Amino acid sequence: MVDEADPTAIALGYVAAAARVDKVKHPNFVEGSACIGCALYQGAAGSEAGPCPLFAGKQVSATGWCASYAKKAI
Ligand code: SF4
Repeated sequence: MVDEADPTAIALGYVAAAARVDKVKHPNFVEGSACIGCALYQGAAGSEAGPCPLFAGKQVSATGWCASYAKKAI
């Protein structure tokens, strides 16, 4: 799993729980968005964690969020 203290995580503003996103630092955060709904998330539907290309070799939390969030096209 990606550690929030990981330098890449800090650089991208990644948190394992989207509820903890710093909305002052990240005014682009949209309530309800999370890794599971991100185009870059590679975990299966309903998974609790999955790979993200921004964190090679690690898993991000399905409920996480980072500043590179890109809404998945439905
Ligand atoms: Fe989560 Fe998307 Fe950021 Fe990857 S790019 S950590 S899937 S929000």
